[in-house]
Amino acid sequence: MNSPTFVTMIDHATIERILDAAEISDVVSDFVTLRKRGVNQLGLCPFHNEKTPSFTVSSAKGIFKCFGCGKGGNSVNFIMEHENLTYPEALKWLARKYNIEIVEKEETEEQKQQKDDRESMMIVSSYAQKYFTRYLWEENEGRTIGLSYFRERNFRDDILKKFDVGFAPDGKTPFTEAAQKEGYKIDFLEKTGLTIKRDDWMRDRFAGRIMFPIHNIAGRVIAFGGRILKDDKKIAKYLNSPESDIYHKSRVLYGIFQAKREISKTEKCYLVEGYTDVLSMHQAGIENVVASSGTALTPDQIRLVKRFTPNITIIYDGDEAGIKASLRGIDLILEEGMNVKVLLLPQGEDPDSFAKKMGATKYLKYIEDNEADFIQFKTRLLLKDTENDPIKKAGLISDVIRSVSVIPDTITRSVYIKECSRLLGVNEDILYTEVRKQKTKQSEDFRKKEFREKAKKATAKPKPPEKIKPTQFLVEELEYLRFLLKHCNAPLFELEGDDENETEMISVGEFMIQELEADDLVSENPLFKKMFYEVSSILDKENIDTWKHFTQHPDSEISQLATDLLSEKYIESKRWAKAGAFMEQEEDILEVLIPKIINEYKFRKIKIMQAEIEKQINIESDKKDYDKVFDLLNTMTNLKKVEKEFTDKLGSRAIN
Ligand SMILES: [Zn+2]
Repeated sequence: MNSPTFVTMIDHATIERILDAAEISDVVSDFVTLRKRGVNQLGLCPFHNEKTPSFTVSSAKGIFKCFGCGKGGNSVNFIMEHENLTYPEALKWLARKYNIEIVEKEETEEQKQQKDDRESMMIVSSYAQKYFTRYLWEENEGRTIGLSYFRERNFRDDILKKFDVGFAPDGKTPFTEAAQKEGYKIDFLEKTGLTIKRDDWMRDRFAGRIMFPIHNIAGRVIAFGGRILKDDKKIAKYLNSPESDIYHKSRVLYGIFQAKREISKTEKCYLVEGYTDVLSMHQAGIENVVASSGTALTPDQIRLVKRFTPNITIIYDGDEAGIKASLRGIDLILEEGMNVKVLLLPQGEDPDSFAKKMGATKYLKYIEDNEADFIQFKTRLLLKDTENDPIKKAGLISDVIRSVSVIPDTITRSVYIKECSRLLGVNEDILYTEVRKQKTKQSEDFRKKEFREKAKKATAKPKPPEKIKPTQFLVEELEYLRFLLKHCNAPLFELEGDDENETEMISVGEFMIQELEADDLVSENPLFKKMFYEVSSILDKENIDTWKHFTQHPDSEISQLATDLLSEKYIESKRWAKAGAFMEQEEDILEVLIPKIINEYKFRKIKIMQAEIEKQINIESDKKDYDKVFDLLNTMTNLKKVEKEFTDKLGSRAIN
């Protein structure tokens, strides 16, 4: 994925401008709701599933860090990770967000091919969206069939434009032909499902349909839903893009991009079923709404909402059979620790019709008056069927208890148990016993599942590492870098100056750099070398914040490592605890720690050099090149001497 040819396409000054503009909390807030916590901001990590927030954003340092899964970095790293982009793509993404113009060189054919499939599929999808939208507004067929459908249903133009709706021309391959003429490859048209292709035959998937583009959370088009207007029982009314590398139905919610800010602001999300439900609610002025678009609600979709709010209200139209069928799915939301409410619309209304009839104020009032807590709702709904039937009632109790027992929070759970006890007329103690039984069963199921997954993982091939992983660093190298970066400008020793009465202060950075250079012990690790010499080159500049310099570094490998070091992910604190050094703040005992860090680093390096020399001695003696062997033995003896000095200096306790 790392293609250095792209890096050269954006000049350094532009990269700096982008990095300056892309304030970390502003970038992250597009995807995660952040709350202030001290000097930092805190939210639920978008990269792993968590119930309590450990995803931290520091505006002062310009970085994010998750203490759950360890992911961290600057704004560019965040976008790379979140949008699955390469470094230059992430820069371009941010440039778009902050309206910074990037002057790009013309891409060569070869570079075009280098772009990975996913990006090409997104580009094709974006082209398709623009094509369909233009067709709806400007072409006769689009206007008479598509636009008039929307107009008949009283959709305003601004809403249609907000959701980029469109129309796909009828016929065998008008769209595919137009796309190919524009240079889009059939391969990606097929991979996105826009074109259906068999051997020597193909056709447009969505021919003659009204098109609803599906945006991902960042606003890029990744798929489509198409509605046919013809009355033909043989053709499905709604057709969706097939699953692809960019579209996973179970992880997407329709409208999340247009709704996310409002969800975050109102701390609430409405869930409806269809595309037009979402459009109508926006038109009525209610914008914190998403649709599961036909699929049963999945845990991934719930987590998507949970990034912005823990509160979700499901809006149903009054068909009881349909509601009952979906009840089980809602347990999934409870399991995520979310607050679920249910709103039943009046008989004969759906979210679309109701929104058009009521408008925002009345609609919101209706919601406020009628939304019910999910467990109460479920209990009441099922209770109707079970009156006078003890067997059915027992079934109902265990059903409701199953829902209660998945709620992660103990206090919430006990509130529900009280409530259910009242509604069902069953003793609280009995309900508690049932909940315990359910929980035991659930944890057993969970263990079995974990076991299966572990077994699966064990047989899967490990992926080769893509970037320099810190495992390629020695612990001593990482600690050396951490202290170098963190305390670079701190004063360390007073040295006697040229004049007898003058003293000169030497900083941590100066000392650490000098020590390794003098002994010619700078690590061969390329990333270490880069950072070492860069610190060395900026030492003279006054007031430079080394941390910031490196965490905001345009080289993503450097900024990544700096962030990891800053968050102390790779520091073996046990080692320090053993040495008894961490009773004090490290800032207060730098004059003790820094020489120790340097010595440990050197000691380890020397050990490695010795091993290397031993290997060489063996090789050369096999070749019977005794001159070389003699030289090597000499070096070895010197190293041993240095080693002994270190052992004496460090004390044997610290070295193991
Ligand atoms: Zn995480």
